[in-house]
Amino acid sequence: MNALFHESYFAYAYDLLTRMVAVNTTNPPGNERELSEFLGAELSSIGAEVSIQDAAEGRANLIARIKGGSDGPVLVLTGHLDTVAANSGWTKEPFQVTRSDGRLFGLGVTDMKGGIAAQIAAVRKLLDTGEINRGELVLCYVADEESRSIGLKKALETLGHADYAVIGEPTELRPAVCHKGVVRMKVTITGKGGHAARPDHAVNPIADIPTVVNAVAEINRRLEGKRHPLLGCGTAVITVVRAGDKGNQIPSACEMKIDRRLLPGETAEQACAEIAEQLTTAFAGKHTTFSLVPYLSTGSGSVPEESEIVQTVSEVCQRLFGHQTCVAFDGCCEQTFWEAAGVDTVIFGPGSLNQAHAADESMEESQLYDAVGGYYEIVRELLGKETVPAAKASSILT
Ligand SMILES: [Zn+2]
Repeated sequence: MNALFHESYFAYAYDLLTRMVAVNTTNPPGNERELSEFLGAELSSIGAEVSIQDAAEGRANLIARIKGGSDGPVLVLTGHLDTVAANSGWTKEPFQVTRSDGRLFGLGVTDMKGGIAAQIAAVRKLLDTGEINRGELVLCYVADEESRSIGLKKALETLGHADYAVIGEPTELRPAVCHKGVVRMKVTITGKGGHAARPDHAVNPIADIPTVVNAVAEINRRLEGKRHPLLGCGTAVITVVRAGDKGNQIPSACEMKIDRRLLPGETAEQACAEIAEQLTTAFAGKHTTFSLVPYLSTGSGSVPEESEIVQTVSEVCQRLFGHQTCVAFDGCCEQTFWEAAGVDTVIFGPGSLNQAHAADESMEESQLYDAVGGYYEIVRELLGKETVPAAKASSILT
């Protein structure tokens, strides 16, 4: 890529990122409206048609549209405006971008204000040079991805038809085509409480913790037999065990939590039913009982590698960065919602997922600028060429 060609746009991306990081969108409570309004003003000043959409009190999405002038695909560049809270390990100021050793530090630089800043800088370049000639480009920046995706759910109600989407989550600028889903469930083992001096009068639920541990191990053995080429296996992990309060008392119940990661094709309902069935067998004939209640779930995502958007992003990656292999996105993300809405969606953005949600979150500065070039080329490939009207096309042929 010609560095000089994009220089002012790199500076613009950096400037945008510093201003975005300065707006606190820690979720909860999110308060994404201020950032939506700031980016909306920015996009409006460069010629996009902007609307701010309320998802809840103080929680607003930003949707901006740029029409290409002739028929063509609708391409969405998208991302989330919220961040997780800065944890206690931060040594740098989280709401300020600090430049050090070729890296940019700040809360959300990687997850994922950097991706959004790069997308907007690329769009500015495309508008300055008049290179969106067909179809439509939509920028969709949403509230609440780090919690329940109320922002994207609201946006999809009104967005209308779209062919392709690119989510700017951190993939180190590799095309990511799938991600796992998750369902979390609470398992309660119920026994009979009593005095520690009289265990014969009680049924201690703690004694059946290994019953659940063994059942989960059996589930994992089965999951190992079903391997996805990029995502590996689904998993089940016990993440919480809570029982007892006093040293001389047998508790009446023990609470456990299980995190089950889902592959494309697996549903939360099936996964819970499978664990419940395993536990039913394991608890048969015991004096304790169990209950299983799912309390959170989000689906997996996957786009066919033959899709035009995957091909386009892969080609651009090969041309600009010398790699094109499709990878999996290790975290959860909103690809699942876009795919459910019928939109072929690739995850492609600057920075590494290892930095997301981490203390002193940072990103290599060069990733930000490479992302500007990447998004610019992707949009140009899909929307840059004017569509020749059918009548004209046939007259050229004859
Ligand atoms: Zn994210």
